[in-house]
Amino acid sequence: MELVIPPRDARTFIVPAGHFFRIVSIDGPQVGDLNLWSRNNLNEQFYSGKTRALHGTHVSTGDQLWSSFPFLRPMATITFDTLDWYGWDDDGGSVHDVIGTRCDPYTHKLLSGNNYHHCCHSNLARALAHETNKSPTEIEDKIHDVLNVFMCTGFTKDTHQYFMKASPVRPGDYLEFIAEIDLLGALSSCPGGDCSSTHSSDEAKCYPLKVEIYKPDQSDLTKWVSPDVSSYSGSHGY
Ligand SMILES: [Zn+2]
Repeated sequence: MELVIPPRDARTFIVPAGHFFRIVSIDGPQVGDLNLWSRNNLNEQFYSGKTRALHGTHVSTGDQLWSSFPFLRPMATITFDTLDWYGWDDDGGSVHDVIGTRCDPYTHKLLSGNNYHHCCHSNLARALAHETNKSPTEIEDKIHDVLNVFMCTGFTKDTHQYFMKASPVRPGDYLEFIAEIDLLGALSSCPGGDCSSTHSSDEAKCYPLKVEIYKPDQSDLTKWVSPDVSSYSGSHGY
């Protein structure tokens, strides 16, 4: 199964536990903003901050994407990354960060005074609204901080501020995961394109992204088990 996400837009997709999915660069350099939920419970969602605390500012092969409280379990594990070679550049940048949030119309309005409707936050909200038969305003509180797929980012050495630069991604590159639980995903083809110039406008050159979903041979999964939710008692000492 595969689907193409048009530029400056988002689409949802379902990945059964134990299946693999790839986010693939196709026509040109393009970054993607990824949200993940438990397929049966939108309250269990990808927890970017905890993933950062457990694995670091950028993720790659072997790292896991963790879910929110009170669930806190791996939702997906990265199984292959064609951009592993990039490592860390001289500016301290790397790819696939969990430090950025997602481009959104509220911050854009704050900083520029303009309305723009194709930020990743809005793209993801429209896609989830379509999936759940709700309106974007009803469902936008389920949109959360993303995995910035293919994005090249870091912190400046002098003032420790977040920066982004042109992504090294090229057509054919992909990031591959195994779904640890039944997943609903949403991926936005960011209006920043490869994030080398402007964001939150129609100016940057943007390309589609592709999501591919693979069903493995059962014999390949003999040692794999879907993780349980956190075993913490949940009483908080109350
Ligand atoms: Zn974006």
